[in-house]
Amino acid sequence: MSKKVSILGSTGSIGTQSLEVCEKHGFEIVALAAHSSVQLLEEQARKFHPKYVGIYSEEKYVDLRQRLADTDTEVLCGMEGLCKIAALEENDIVLNSVVGMVGLLPTLTAINAGKDVALANKETLVAGGELVMSLAEEKGVKIYPIDSEHSAIFQCLQGNKREQLSKILLTASGGPFFGWSYDQLRTVTKAQALKHPNWDMGAKITIDSATLMNKGLEFIEARWLFDLRPDQIEIIVHRQSVIHSAVEYNDFSVIAQLGVPDMKIPIQYALLYPDRMECPTRRLSLTDYGTLTFAKPDIETFKCLGTAIKAITLGGAYPCLVNSANEEAVRAFLNDEIQFIDIGEIVSSVPEHFAPSDIRSYEDVMEADRLAREYVREHISG
Ligand code: MG
Repeated sequence: MSKKVSILGSTGSIGTQSLEVCEKHGFEIVALAAHSSVQLLEEQARKFHPKYVGIYSEEKYVDLRQRLADTDTEVLCGMEGLCKIAALEENDIVLNSVVGMVGLLPTLTAINAGKDVALANKETLVAGGELVMSLAEEKGVKIYPIDSEHSAIFQCLQGNKREQLSKILLTASGGPFFGWSYDQLRTVTKAQALKHPNWDMGAKITIDSATLMNKGLEFIEARWLFDLRPDQIEIIVHRQSVIHSAVEYNDFSVIAQLGVPDMKIPIQYALLYPDRMECPTRRLSLTDYGTLTFAKPDIETFKCLGTAIKAITLGGAYPCLVNSANEEAVRAFLNDEIQFIDIGEIVSSVPEHFAPSDIRSYEDVMEADRLAREYVREHISG
């Protein structure tokens, strides 16, 4: 069952864990790509001997080429490099764990080339859900979700009839500020926001988890991945991150997927589907946990979450606008330009600022992205 895999975003948290899974099962690595981490990318190239490596940051290209001059690996760069890798004839599956909107074009390119995609890049579906899913259907390409919640839902759908699903229960850890009031959120520092209780992740997604925007993005992704109406998605705060999500069927039977909070399980399921083999992680011991808790999310205090749900309910370009505004606001927060609560303030002001518009092409996505970022930059400097 050895597969040939290319990984976009190989030096990030999902990328490095994906390589661990590929190594465990002896998968062949066709190509690797990263944003700018040349040293780690060089180490990965020396270990996995890919045919190609891609570096998104053009200024790192010469450095990486020199580092790999004694190897057979060809070095590519920029968006062109990512897209070339996404469409390689040798790929059985393309794993996309790039962070941000940058991931959309490589995903569309892989689908156009008829390559199955293991998808960890949230923005791909949030901003371009309609485009991605209709193109995948047209090309007969499968999208395997890597996000733990969507993998859980995907697993709970196996062996059941999709049309008999009544709703999904999307679980949320609640992040480090669960139960905090809006006034308490005013005091949040960058160091506090960068610490997540259950999951070890990159900076952007860790901040998104603290604002609950991450759950909002996952809500939008679920709508597209599983072709649901927004009112069929219920968010449940489950602090222990043991139940990764569940599906309710028409007979009110609820099927959930459980496991330790380790991304290697959903990564492996996406790469090995439909097979299940030992995963390089720990077993779940429910008795170690003893108690599992469930609560409703506070969408008034955590404005990003409420806004994301509003955006997908409104439809059109709103999910894309809200996502790009959030990306820009998180960047400003990480650069110490704004406070933690400003992220929610900025994101929640987006729907009323923009008139309704449609997304019909990749260019429409990029235009909405540009407008949202421009709005946020002006908001911050003003
Ligand atoms: Mg998740």
